[in-house]
Amino acid sequence: MSNTIEQLASAFQKLPGVGPRQAKRFVFAILEKDLEYAKTLSSFIWEARNKIVRCAACFYAFELHNSDFQRQNSNVKTLRLCSVCQNASRDNSLLLIVQKEIDLENIEKSRCYDGKYFILGGAIFLLNPIKLPRSKAGLSDCGDKNQISSGINKNGGDKIRMRELFERVKNDKNIKEVILAMNADREGETAGLYINKILEPFVQQRALKITRFGKGLSSGAEIEYADKDTIQNAFQNRR
Ligand SMILES: [Zn+2]
Repeated sequence: MSNTIEQLASAFQKLPGVGPRQAKRFVFAILEKDLEYAKTLSSFIWEARNKIVRCAACFYAFELHNSDFQRQNSNVKTLRLCSVCQNASRDNSLLLIVQKEIDLENIEKSRCYDGKYFILGGAIFLLNPIKLPRSKAGLSDCGDKNQISSGINKNGGDKIRMRELFERVKNDKNIKEVILAMNADREGETAGLYINKILEPFVQQRALKITRFGKGLSSGAEIEYADKDTIQNAFQNRR
C-alpha cells in the first residue's frame, strides 16, 4: 500500500469513531473525487482550524469574525469568550458541565437552562484506570498540577479538562452550583465521580453545591440525542 494512502488513512483514524476500515474508505472515496474536491476539503479544514477558537471560559469552539479579531487583538488581556459566556444576563451562579460541544448545543436548543457551561472534552474512558484522589485531599493536593493531569494523560490521547475545571471553579466565586450533565453510561458515571472528588474542597470551603441531571435520561442515554422534554425533566429533577 502506498505510503501516502497510509498516511492519510492514519490521519482519519485519529478522528472519533473512525476505525482502520472506515479510514481507508474515506481515502478511496476522496481519490474517486476530482482534484477540486480535495482542494476545497483541505482548505475548509485549514480555515476552520484557523478561524475557530476555543472559548477561554467554557471551551466551546466558535468562529472569530474580523471585528472580533480587531477587538480582541486591541487588548491582549481580553479573554476570548463565546456568546454564552459574554452574555451578562445569564445566571452566573450555575455552571453546567457537559462532556462535549454537541451536548452543550443540544441543551442550548432546549432553552431550559440559562446559566453558564463548561465542556470537559477528551475521551472519558481514559479516566477508568485512574485512582481517585484521596477523599481527604485538601485544596493544595487538588491544586497540584501533576496529581490532576498526570493520571488523566497516563494513556495518552485527548486531554480531559479536569485541571481547567478545578481552576474555573476556584477562580469564579460566583459559582454556587455545579450541575453534572454527563451521559447516563459508565463513562459519564466515572467522570461524575472524579469531578465530585476534585471539587470537594469547594463544597467544604464555600458550600458549593454539586448536583447532577435527574432521572429522565434512561440508562445509556446520551445528552446529545435527548429531546427538549427529557432535558427539561433532567434539569428540573437535578439532585
Ligand atoms: Zn464560553
